Amino acid sequence: MSRFEAEISEFIWNTKYRVRDDGNIAEACVEDSWWRLARALASVEPENQEYWAQCFYRNLEDFRFLPGGRILAGAGTGHQVTLFNCFVMGSIEDSLEAIFERLKEGALTMQQGGGIGVDFSSLRPAGSGAQHSGTIASGPVSFMRIWDAMCATLLSTGSRRGAMMATLRCDHPDIEHFVEAKRDPAELRHFNLSVLVDDNFMRAVDADADWPLVFPERQLQARCQNRGRGERVVRRWSGESEPQSCRVLRRVRAQALWRKIMRAAYDVAEPGVLFVDQINRHNNLNYREQISATNPCGEIPLPPYGACNLGSVNLMCFVREPFTGRARLDREGIAHCAAIGTRMLDNVIDLSQYPLPAQEVQARGCRRIGIGITGLADALIALGLHYDSNAAREIAAEVLQTLRDSAYRTSIALAKEKGSFHFFRRDAYLASADILALPESLRRGIEALGIRNSHLVAIAPTGTISLLANGVSSGIEPVFDFQHRRRVLTADGRYREFEISDPSFRLWCARGGNPEALPPQFVSARQLSPRAHLLMAAALQPYVDNAISKTVNIPVDFPFERFESLYRQAYKLGLKGCTTFRPNPITQSILTSVGEA
Ligand code: ADP
Repeated sequence: MSRFEAEISEFIWNTKYRVRDDGNIAEACVEDSWWRLARALASVEPENQEYWAQCFYRNLEDFRFLPGGRILAGAGTGHQVTLFNCFVMGSIEDSLEAIFERLKEGALTMQQGGGIGVDFSSLRPAGSGAQHSGTIASGPVSFMRIWDAMCATLLSTGSRRGAMMATLRCDHPDIEHFVEAKRDPAELRHFNLSVLVDDNFMRAVDADADWPLVFPERQLQARCQNRGRGERVVRRWSGESEPQSCRVLRRVRAQALWRKIMRAAYDVAEPGVLFVDQINRHNNLNYREQISATNPCGEIPLPPYGACNLGSVNLMCFVREPFTGRARLDREGIAHCAAIGTRMLDNVIDLSQYPLPAQEVQARGCRRIGIGITGLADALIALGLHYDSNAAREIAAEVLQTLRDSAYRTSIALAKEKGSFHFFRRDAYLASADILALPESLRRGIEALGIRNSHLVAIAPTGTISLLANGVSSGIEPVFDFQHRRRVLTADGRYREFEISDPSFRLWCARGGNPEALPPQFVSARQLSPRAHLLMAAALQPYVDNAISKTVNIPVDFPFERFESLYRQAYKLGLKGCTTFRPNPITQSILTSVGEA
């Protein structure tokens, strides 16, 4: 029996996740893939493996719990691949040797299928002296091009295009070059770019103050050719314990730089912005880590060599009596799915291969996982709620709270059963911001028993796995369109096009609803105001200890001034970052609505 209602879902399973044995197909149906996963994840249980395999299988059945793509593709196959979707690379020491060593590490990580993030802020600015050769340094952007070429060369695991994130501090002297880089349609196509923006910078923008572009003094050579070489400032960057003496290489107006970032984001949808102080303030492990990068889509801020694995609860499976006056969400079902999902993701850490030993040390030391939701927008539609309404945001926040509490409760129980994560320090952990905000019963649980996983919640883009799950709306994004065409990259590098109809739309029609007279809650991403996108992310942020992947759709004719103020709102709402997409000639849209093709 096939569980697939959509042609594209079967295609995704067949090409990305179905196990083949030397070209002969080994898995006859998607249930075989679920059993492979369930058995592999249960194989690291110290006891009752058959019991856990049954539990895990039931959680996967009907696409209720969607493990991240790497887990689906790799678990139980015997292939030398990682089961982690997300990595951040080690900090790049500012020497040619270290740069190419990190490049090699990046290549080895991508070869196994992981997406990577890299902070390039430690590389000295273009134009400063290079001691060994007496030449002039070419700056972070030039080295990013080498990473880009590496990524283009390695078609990471099968038909998966490589994805990377590059970050740069907003006070790095090359920041303007970085911000403008992707205006060139040929530049850095395998990177998402994000500027690390700190509170000091946002204050300087508000005050219309000067903003010094600086670099740590100890790294600059005496023969530095930049102007302004005499002036020094002492800087303590986000998450750093010690202030450093930096040389001021140039001064700009903070507002001018901010507007430059905004203009580029408005024109070519890059760079994004990461509010790095907010990230570090809300890191459960802020007593031992500094974060300055995220994975490619931004939902997992990570320290050097950090890794995280993902899984999502498909909310559409938990709507009871859809499109009726009694429509509701099965909260207990969601909590149970999240609890079993937490155990599954925790087992991934023991089952996975690691491209680098340092990644294994980090992953086993923290046991970070990212469990989240997908199908939010479809579930809201089936519940009769408009995405941009207080009722929708309240329900979504309640669901996230249910999920978070269930994940933490499970992780505390797992600590009792299997031990806390290695880097757990009880008092410091209990003093961190998101842990202080937990219900008292969970805090008492952590105090008494410890906790198995340092971080538990993240909202992933679920780009591929949602397509697999009959095309349910991704993560917390609104439905793109109720009927559209979508191009998918195939293993031979060509694109194949599919017609897709949305699950809530199909359900509405199957229940006798008129497709020509959709009720008002059938709202698509582009019909919503940008603020509505932002408010949904802000409503959920308090329950997400990692971060949220969310792209705010911006209409072409949206005024620049309002666009700019949206980012300030994102900062004031306490989001960890902001990514927008406004149609532009540089980034072609992958999705095409029926009728527009
Ligand atoms: P999936 O649907 O395959 O589970 P998501 O769309 O949820 O993946 O993305 C989650 C994370 O997986 C991303 O933030 C990124 O770190 C990684 N990732 C996604 N697509 C790719 C890719 N093509 N190459 C490398 N990493 C990727």
